[in-house]
Amino acid sequence: MNRFLRLSPHCSLKRLEKPYIYDIKNDELYEIDDKAEDFIKRCDGVTPLNPPFTKGGRGGLSDEEFVNFCLKENLLEIVENPLSSLVPRPSPLAPRPSPTPSLRYLELQLTARCNLSCRHCYLGKPKNIELNFDSVRKILKEFEDIQGLRLIISGGEPMLYSSFWEFNNILPDYKFRKVLLTSGWFLGTEEALKLNVNEVQVSLDGLEDGHDTLRGKGSFKRAITAMKYVKEAGTDLSAATMVHQYNLNDFQKMAELLKSYNVREWGIDVPLQTGNLKSAKDFIVSPEKGGEYLKFAYGGSYHGGSEGYVCGRHICTIMPSGKVCKCGFYEDRPLGNIEEGLRNCWERNYHMPLKDLQCHDCIYIEECQGGCRFRAETPTSPDPVMCALYKKAKT
Ligand code: SF4
Ligand code: SF4
Repeated sequence: MNRFLRLSPHCSLKRLEKPYIYDIKNDELYEIDDKAEDFIKRCDGVTPLNPPFTKGGRGGLSDEEFVNFCLKENLLEIVENPLSSLVPRPSPLAPRPSPTPSLRYLELQLTARCNLSCRHCYLGKPKNIELNFDSVRKILKEFEDIQGLRLIISGGEPMLYSSFWEFNNILPDYKFRKVLLTSGWFLGTEEALKLNVNEVQVSLDGLEDGHDTLRGKGSFKRAITAMKYVKEAGTDLSAATMVHQYNLNDFQKMAELLKSYNVREWGIDVPLQTGNLKSAKDFIVSPEKGGEYLKFAYGGSYHGGSEGYVCGRHICTIMPSGKVCKCGFYEDRPLGNIEEGLRNCWERNYHMPLKDLQCHDCIYIEECQGGCRFRAETPTSPDPVMCALYKKAKT
């Protein structure tokens, strides 16, 4: 009997440095070889596919084993009635190769508006600047064409973007993961149910006193309520925390709290001494002290370098002004403006090899990759926070 297969709707073929199947829902990237990629492209739900499909195995697996693996991982699905595939639905893309290095993660700062004035905010005072919606639509298309994996929707407070719900409505059209970074202030139960994102990351900067001292009265309760609604809506939840003087005793209890909300990733960082933090010196912890708290973090981080390069190998940021930058800290040194095209801007990015760092012979270099280049005192010096994390004295 003929068998009809189709790439699962939550998966997409990506042609990065190598071919991959990306499971958008679970944020898993599966490396495949060229033969497997050709095979997946034929999984359109209407072409009968019976092994053997090609000569030779895929990554050591026979054809049948490969298909069984994909079915088990829910990457492929069996189509019972091939005619139903004629109804338009997600199908394997015929991907154009991405640039090298690939741009996998894009932080999209929709707006510089914010209702809060967090004492550590690196962006400084909120501003009434935002991307126009036509540009945003173009950016989403370009990011999909470039084989992007994860769109990080941020601001300011992204939910204050004037076209936020219009933007939310078009998100399902794109085959990448969408992650909303928010304070949670505007996230009620209705909003949580309406969101078309795979993950919401709520900022949680301490228990109630510590969080509210940094972010403003009432903000802790709003963040916790938002987390509850996100969880009830069945959307993945993650959290981000900045280490500051008023939350140093909170980490153990926060870890328990986040566990009770089934938080999948906890990003922890030491704020850079820029923006509002320059006039809120009492919040500052030394890099050496702050670095010790990074051990509470878990889950992936997309800022890191790879293949022998420093941070930012696969990520860039689009600011509300339309500037495309290495990351939000580099607005004064943009790669270009989004009007010039995302690919053009990305291809101008300089990726420093690890061997050019002063600490290239550190025993932690492969894991640490020199940490955050903005936080390091000079472009090539060590990142003191990471040195503290790895228990290494600054060289
Ligand atoms: S400079 Fe720091 S914030 Fe920017 S990409 Fe590198 S690690 Fe991330
Ligand atoms: S721990 Fe410090 S010295 Fe070692 S690689 Fe990281 S930044 Fe460089």
